[in-house]
Amino acid sequence: MAKTCIYRVAVPSPLRRLFDYLPPKTASDRISPGCRVQVPFGKRLVVGLVVSQSDESALPAEKLRAIRSVIDTAPLIPDSLLDLILWAGNYYQQPPGDALMSALPVLLRQGVVPSTKTESHWQLSLHGRGLPENALPRAPKQQKLLGILRSNGIQTAHSLAAQGIKRDTLRALVKKGLVEAVPQPTGANGSSPHDRDLKESAVAHSILAESPLPLYPEQQQALNSLELHGFHTCLLQGETGSGKTEVYLQAIEKILRYGRQALVLVPEISLTPQTVNRFRQRFCGQVSLIHSGLTDRERLQAWYDARSGAAGVVIGTRSAVFTPLANPGIIIIDEEHDPSFKQQDGFRYSARDVAVMRASREQIPLILGSATPSLESLYNGLRGRYRIQRLSSRPGSARQPRWRLLDIRRAKLTTGLSAPLLEAIDQELKDGNQVLVFLNRRGFAPTLMCHDCGWIAECRHCATRMTVHRQRRAMLCHQCEQQQPLPDRCPQCSSQALVCLGQGTERCEDGLSALFPQFPVLRVDRDSTRRKQAMQQLIDRVDDGKACILVGTQILAKGHHFPNVTLVAILDTDNGLFSPDFRATERMGQLITQVAGRAGRGEKPGTVILQSHHCDHPLITRLTRDGYAAFARDLLDERQRAGLPPFRHMAIFRAESESAESARDMLGRLRQVAELEASPGPALTYLGPLPSPLEKRGGRYRFQLILLDENRHRLQQLLTRLCAVLDNDKPPRQVRWSVDVDSQDMV
Ligand code: ADP
Ligand code: ZN
Ligand code: ZN
Repeated sequence: MAKTCIYRVAVPSPLRRLFDYLPPKTASDRISPGCRVQVPFGKRLVVGLVVSQSDESALPAEKLRAIRSVIDTAPLIPDSLLDLILWAGNYYQQPPGDALMSALPVLLRQGVVPSTKTESHWQLSLHGRGLPENALPRAPKQQKLLGILRSNGIQTAHSLAAQGIKRDTLRALVKKGLVEAVPQPTGANGSSPHDRDLKESAVAHSILAESPLPLYPEQQQALNSLELHGFHTCLLQGETGSGKTEVYLQAIEKILRYGRQALVLVPEISLTPQTVNRFRQRFCGQVSLIHSGLTDRERLQAWYDARSGAAGVVIGTRSAVFTPLANPGIIIIDEEHDPSFKQQDGFRYSARDVAVMRASREQIPLILGSATPSLESLYNGLRGRYRIQRLSSRPGSARQPRWRLLDIRRAKLTTGLSAPLLEAIDQELKDGNQVLVFLNRRGFAPTLMCHDCGWIAECRHCATRMTVHRQRRAMLCHQCEQQQPLPDRCPQCSSQALVCLGQGTERCEDGLSALFPQFPVLRVDRDSTRRKQAMQQLIDRVDDGKACILVGTQILAKGHHFPNVTLVAILDTDNGLFSPDFRATERMGQLITQVAGRAGRGEKPGTVILQSHHCDHPLITRLTRDGYAAFARDLLDERQRAGLPPFRHMAIFRAESESAESARDMLGRLRQVAELEASPGPALTYLGPLPSPLEKRGGRYRFQLILLDENRHRLQQLLTRLCAVLDNDKPPRQVRWSVDVDSQDMV
């Protein structure tokens, strides 16, 4: 064994280990863990991250290669975050190099060096400060910039951009002599006087840009129960509109007063502009956003602002859970039940679960908020691991909606809507109200069929039907995104009698427009909100309050406030009741409850009409009569009886191949190995190999092997061994495999 200075480096590679390197040939100081280096790897030079230092290696020194160059002189990420990501890589069976690299912004992965040049900071000039409040009524953008600088003090161009100020506007005011750059520092010491200016301005200016609402007792209690020091998890359970966001805002205010930062995770930022605006309106300091809509540069800047502490509040989607914070103070996860917090490919981590681990390691509080908590979190609450805080009343005058179940067995449906429902819609519109129609299926129709021979359009690559999209004039596979032109004749019998079966949002929109021509029908789904700002524009139209119909998918369930919606119609619940995925009922209950929560949030009471062929299904009855909490307890009982999560921990090995046999055989062999390692018993079950619910996707047959174990630790060890076996034995080339720990989806 060689005894010398060795660096263990994480390198992007499918190999589940770190790699040893000698120090660079050119003399250098000790390299700290968390610094990036450039290393030779195979025939390439790659960017890696130093994880630790050691004085020995399993390999003889002459076999080791040297680090080519050192990229960072100081750690890019703090030790605690480095450890967290390594823990997550290990837990989710992701190679450490891949885990670390996927947690970094793209530009850092590529080796970009943090710019040492400090960004310019802008402030009002003497002249600008002397202006009256509304000095530029004809230039609203410039007026807005003046307002921001007046109330928030010194700003970087980046933070101004984040608040919607364009560089042109800034330039225009500089030209007018109203805004000037903060003089460049000439300080000799290392710390930039800019930072000092910023800190002083943060103190001089207050933390709040608007006054907080006086909390009602339950909110106050939730806030009081929050300790600012030490780790604990609060499960904040409150209907949509019960005031959870207000609790977050006031919790964050407390944290900011301690000079700490808040990390807020939300399911999808582009779809919830209202939430983001509320954070911006409340706080003077910088609120940074981290999400997939940013350019790589913007993302890197937001990451730096979080790391330097410049951003007091960092709001982001799933991957933001790995953002470094200079002074972590609290983590908040809004809509904690949302499936998007679990990554579905590559590094299959759950941002919610990683956040729990992070908060515990950083010794800070965590709030999980939801109207419809996941069964996992509820279970943790019931076991006393999380504190459950309930918000039951709605602030102000808003009241709980009324439920009405419409049995549609044998009913005549017009584009999916029954006569009593159409009457109800008509009445609401005549009263000047807004109506929301929920149908969780985008496109025009889910099936295209030949009326003469029965041919059905299926994807050539997947075991699914093609969805007809009328706007694109095409058929689209929702699994592999393959698009095909709409045929004008049946490919089997050449008949022109092709018919669309079933309803998608496009068809529903058409039907409603024809039935209610005097009222606008707005469609809200992934297709109609694809364009940037499209969601905001739709929301603006709804906000103007005029009578209209909104038709949309689950996007509508996500945290929007539509105070004038008085009727919510849910068209299709039956899918959720009869799905091969055991989580489908939980998702259905969450969706229905969330969508129903859009009704009657303003002055007017709301009604929810649920159309179903199974109105008397016990779960539907429980949900609509007793509410989500009771419904969730029923589901928990069912899960306990079936030995399913959260009562046991689940992992899925998936294999896919063009040959169904190779995929199934690989998993069959894996099961044999697994049973030798850990024999099945009451606590440990193996299921499979079975075809996945979606048997074929993108031309590949898909199988899965499910592992369920009461003992998380044992399951972990088993998974690690099985991955090692698969790595060594190299399954047939054409078989792709993956493992999904705590999987959220059976597909
Ligand atoms: P949630 O996050 O649970 O959906 P919000 O915090 O967004 O709920 O609150 C819903 C609405 O009620 C918002 O318009 C908010 O401004 C208002 N609200 C919240 N708390 C209070 C309060 N204590 N007093 C008055 N209005 C409140
Ligand atoms: Zn035909
Ligand atoms: Zn397909």
